[in-house]
This record gives sequence, structure tokens and C-alpha cells, in this order.
Amino acid sequence: MKVVPLLLEPRFVPRIWGARSLEPLFPEHQNLAEPIGEVWLTGEECRFASGPFAQRTLGEAWREFPAEWRGLRLADVFRFPLLVKFLFPQEKLSIQVHPDDSYARQHSRSAAADRGKTEMWYAITAREGAGVLVGLKPGVTAASFRRSITDSTLEDLLERIPVAAGDAIFVPAGTVHTIGPGVVLCEIQEYSDITYRVFDYNRLTAEGKPRELHVEQALEVINFGEQSGGKLSPLRIHRGSVTETYFVACRYFATEKWEFAERIAAVTSPEHFDLLIFLSGSGEIESRGDFAGYAPAQVWLLPASLGAYHLVPSEPTSLLRTYVPEIVRDFVQRLADQRVPESAWSKLVFP
Ligand SMILES: [Zn+2]
Repeated sequence: MKVVPLLLEPRFVPRIWGARSLEPLFPEHQNLAEPIGEVWLTGEECRFASGPFAQRTLGEAWREFPAEWRGLRLADVFRFPLLVKFLFPQEKLSIQVHPDDSYARQHSRSAAADRGKTEMWYAITAREGAGVLVGLKPGVTAASFRRSITDSTLEDLLERIPVAAGDAIFVPAGTVHTIGPGVVLCEIQEYSDITYRVFDYNRLTAEGKPRELHVEQALEVINFGEQSGGKLSPLRIHRGSVTETYFVACRYFATEKWEFAERIAAVTSPEHFDLLIFLSGSGEIESRGDFAGYAPAQVWLLPASLGAYHLVPSEPTSLLRTYVPEIVRDFVQRLADQRVPESAWSKLVFP
């Protein structure tokens, strides 16, 4: 099987808090009949647009990917590990929390729900005054939390984080959160769809019903102790003609941004596949003598065995690269090699 970069087709998912225009990522999606909240880029139902698995879904293809494509460290991972989405909140999302892996495993009714969810968000756009709520203020207890749901004052117990374009926020499992309107986010998370909704602003769906809440499960998984998520303090490094911004490394994903206006060289690791999420710009991915054109809002999966490749921009390009890391070897070592002090990189590492 020929090793080539693989383009995935997005899936557009309606949500009551979504938007009717998906600018700037999908300018052709305007005046939509139904609000779209999420665009799934690596959902198991997403289909490959190119390569030997063209027209097959990611879920099916993953099972047939040879270990050298998945990456040696992912050879035994049964389901695709990383879920990448774009979010277009036009209204607030519900206030929610996700369980960690061990809770998800103990309480899941299906093998498909055996992962918890740690996630991060990268702000692609943010209008003046936009923000998110992430984590509890000091002193919040299960009792005061429960009371504030009844009083509709839960927002007051959460930390508000102002968001500007280019910011990134880390949300470990067990951290209560919601996203305000006025941002377009790229969300990178463990592949899981378990959400415990605790407050939905007393909204009704198109059918006139409130969405289900899961307060009891939420109270079991919420971290009422010291909070560890929030806005990240990224590290920017200029290396040749690329500016790299390192955001975070946890056991599930490591994420960085690359910005470049000239041809750059890169190489995949045999240990893991890479996802390249193009935010802006266009050009070509050159690998093994082949060229594939890239454009904004596309996600490409690079098999681990691809090896050396080049990105050849025809316009200045920015992308997010994310992968399943071995934190020390892939992340810490790389920064330490560039003489970044521990005091700087340690803020980005959540072991
Ligand atoms: Zn969430």
C-alpha cells in the first residue's frame, strides 16, 4: 500500500447553540437553514477524500491501518484516539463536565464509551469580550454547586477566561466548563463523546423539550480540589523559516502551531501518526515525489511511516499539528534540545 498523506472530509453537525454562517473556515456555508455547532474533522464516520482508503470511513480504515501507519506506539489501540472538531458557538454551550478514563470504563454501557475526555481549545477567531468558563473558583463544594444549579447561578462559581484569537485553553477531565458565544474554536480531545450536562440555561429544543441533564454523574466526576486547567502559556520558537508555537502535552495529545511562508521540511515519527489541521493559507504537501494540495479547514492524516516531507506554501500558512505523544521523548526533549528552560516548558506539560 502506497504511503501518502490522507485528506479527511468534514461532517457538519447541527446544535441548538450553533451558527448559520461558518466563516471564516467554510465561507461557502452561509445562511444555513439549521444552525451548525460542530464540524467533526476526525469522527469515525468521516470519510477519506484521497489515498488508498478513499471513500472509506476513518473508523473502518483505522482497523485496517497497518501498525506502521498508525505508529508503533498505537499498534494495539482499538479505536481512533483523537477527535478534532471546529466549534461555532453562537450561543453558550451547556455547562458540562467529562469523566476521566477510569470512571468512563467503569460506567460505560458500550465498548464505544470506554474513554473519558480531556480536551483543549485553540481560538481561531474571538470577538471583543468573548470568553469561556473553565474550572471552579476556590471554595466551591458539591453542596454549593448543587444549590447554584437550582438557583440558575452556576456561572458565578466558574472561573471566566477572556479569549483572544490565538489563545489555547486546556480542560482536563473532571473540569467544569462552558464556551461562550463569539468564538470559533478548534477542539482537540480524547476520542469520547461522554458529556455530563449540568445546566442548560433553561433552554428548549426545537421540539419544545429541555435537553437531558446528568447532575448526579457530574457530581461524581467533578474535581472539587485544586484546578489544573485554564489558559495555556504557549512557547514560541523561530526555527529557520517556521515559527513554532507549543501549547500543551498531556498523555492523550500534544499540540503545536506552525506558521510559515516558505517551503519547510518535516518528518513523521515511526511511533505515531500526525494530524495537520490547516487554519489558513494554501499550498502543497510534497512527499515521496507526490504533491497534494492543501487549503484552509482541511485535516490531513500523515501515516507514521510517511517519513520526510515538505510543505510548500503558495500563501502564508498556519496549521495545528497534533499527535499522541510520549511526553518526554517527543515534547520535553525537543524543547530542551532548543535550550528552552524547564521553567518554561513545565507549564505546558500535564503528565
Ligand atoms: Zn467539553
